[in-house]
Amino acid sequence: MFAKILIANRGEIACRVIRTARKMGVRTVAVYSDADAKSLHVEMADEAVHIGASPVGESYLRGDKIIAAALATGAQAIHPGYGFLSENPDFVDQVVAAGLIFIGPSAASIRAMGLKDAAKRLMEKAGVPVVPGYHGEAQEIVLLASKAREIGYPVLIKARAGGGGKGMRRVEHPDEFSEALSSARREAKAAFGDDRVLVEKYVDKPRHIEVQVFGDNFGNAVHLYERDCSAQRRHQKVIEEAPAPGMTEALRKAMTEAAVKAAKAINYSGAGTIEFIVDASQGLKADRFWFMEMNTRLQVEHPVTEMVTGTDLVEWQLRVASGEKLPKMQSEIALAGHAFEARIYAEDAAKGFLPATGTLHHLKFPDATPEGATMRIETGVRAGDAISPYYDPMIAKLVFHAKDRQAALDALGSALSRTEIAGSTVNTAFLAALAADPDFAAGDVDTSLIARHQTALTEIAPPTGETIAAAAVAASGAGAAPPSNDPWSSIAGYAHFHSVARRTRLKFGEDDIAAKVSVRPDGRFQVALDKPYDDTNSHDFRAAPRLACWPGHITVFEGAVGYTFAVPDPLARADDAAAGAGSLRAPMPGLVKLARAAIGDAVIKGQPLLILEAMKMEHTIAAPHDGVIAEIATEGAQVTDGTVLVRFVEDQNASTAAVS
Ligand code: ADP
Repeated sequence: MFAKILIANRGEIACRVIRTARKMGVRTVAVYSDADAKSLHVEMADEAVHIGASPVGESYLRGDKIIAAALATGAQAIHPGYGFLSENPDFVDQVVAAGLIFIGPSAASIRAMGLKDAAKRLMEKAGVPVVPGYHGEAQEIVLLASKAREIGYPVLIKARAGGGGKGMRRVEHPDEFSEALSSARREAKAAFGDDRVLVEKYVDKPRHIEVQVFGDNFGNAVHLYERDCSAQRRHQKVIEEAPAPGMTEALRKAMTEAAVKAAKAINYSGAGTIEFIVDASQGLKADRFWFMEMNTRLQVEHPVTEMVTGTDLVEWQLRVASGEKLPKMQSEIALAGHAFEARIYAEDAAKGFLPATGTLHHLKFPDATPEGATMRIETGVRAGDAISPYYDPMIAKLVFHAKDRQAALDALGSALSRTEIAGSTVNTAFLAALAADPDFAAGDVDTSLIARHQTALTEIAPPTGETIAAAAVAASGAGAAPPSNDPWSSIAGYAHFHSVARRTRLKFGEDDIAAKVSVRPDGRFQVALDKPYDDTNSHDFRAAPRLACWPGHITVFEGAVGYTFAVPDPLARADDAAAGAGSLRAPMPGLVKLARAAIGDAVIKGQPLLILEAMKMEHTIAAPHDGVIAEIATEGAQVTDGTVLVRFVEDQNASTAAVS
């Protein structure tokens, strides 16, 4: 076994790898960027090396710096985690050339699966079923269109270099083919520098079911059953589970055999995942699944497999990479119970799942789970840490295991309703709604379930009078004492000294709320709101609700929903109003990539003014109306949300930039 390894990653996966390494007595080296200098993975590792500035291109994608850090610290091997350099065969070549071991497959295996079209040709040859379609070299539009007609509409155009759903277009009708093709190509060119595509049959009622495989350097390969990842938004997974609901013995046998065949066809070593698409329109049938692609690394959702098979896949990775044989033979790998993983992201479900940022001023996960269920929380952040625009906005993965699907799902739902996060917009309420969705709960899943139920899943009931009153009590206390994480204790103190009513102002979204808070002699709070909520404007209570006070805000938690109220600072108001008039503010923190207009320019409504790069995506900021520019952010500027990006001359409109 290795004495020391370097982890070329950050966040929860770096922390997760460190934990297993420590258990095995292997020392760890973390690498970090400027933004991550104080992050959890740096704190957890035995040693840490700074590798550059915050943008990934200057740090986590700098293979040369990472290899230099491994050599300098005497690490023998590099664990790539997922994302970043994990599927980059050139990096693997460089690691090997430096005399180090890459904890993962060979560069040749990664190359064989790197492009969707070549991988499909290879799998077809190996006898693995692939989605009917065209995955040849020729790219003339006339040929692709005729192939699409042969395949039969609807079809799916996919970038051969694709990932993360980019460069993918569903086409319903031949008339739409050429336009969809150009837009898929444009996106693929921008994202991957390769605009070649394949065309596939669009599978009906598609389910995403993947098989975990594992190989060693002695030609052995096994599977660890399947995961269902059909719950997706923007073609990205949010809740995964193992085993797949409704799985039949016949389909499982066919899929796992095909997966092992695929792994063996490329002499696979290490952890890998074969992703299949399954046509569930007539139930799960053994002849209705097709290879989509192989991920030649550990997946985000690997914990559900660990839970149902009782394995530690990172331990397997380290053993296999250090030259040991697979820890278990196929006959020794059994499936027990059911597991779910829910990914908590900083994102705004109601705004099309737009990634969010912010400082996690308050972060509390449940510390217990119902009897009979096991919980595992994978995270790379602590309270006070920031979700920056530089990296993936995932905050944590909540993983549950129980004897059956219902029990595991109940444990997940209950944990989500006890999770408290304040300081950024998060998707806990959406996840809880999805876990409670009748189709999802029944196991009747497919990849468009979320899109079909999107409105219901992302709708949040307005706060009740009780919730508003609780925020008002906390706000009135916050005026007397500095905001603390336990506002109720400071309010209790306030209760003894202030028997007169206090006036408090709050804002919920655009809604201004005024309240009068007093404490009755029996210690109960009495709140009079300026307008009635739930048919009354008087609220009277004692119980301390779940809430968090953070700079300028109060978040009250009701189940999985966090209602955030702004507590206006009277001193800041004048400034704010001045900045608001006729200006366009950044909707999220980011980097100004391109300014397409200058001071004094007359612009028309809809004209692109700026490109803001945030959360790894480019957002075009367009003029909300005609006007003349008085001020505009400069290229290269880092902005936080709320920063004024553009100010117009003589105009009254204030708005937050709409992004597209
Ligand atoms: P990427 O590598 O960009 O993530 P994938 O090939 O893995 O792309 O596909 C992503 C998702 O798109 C799948 O999980 C599935 O939901 C959907 N999908 C892919 N291929 C098809 C298809 N042929 N028919 C229907 N849906 C598909």
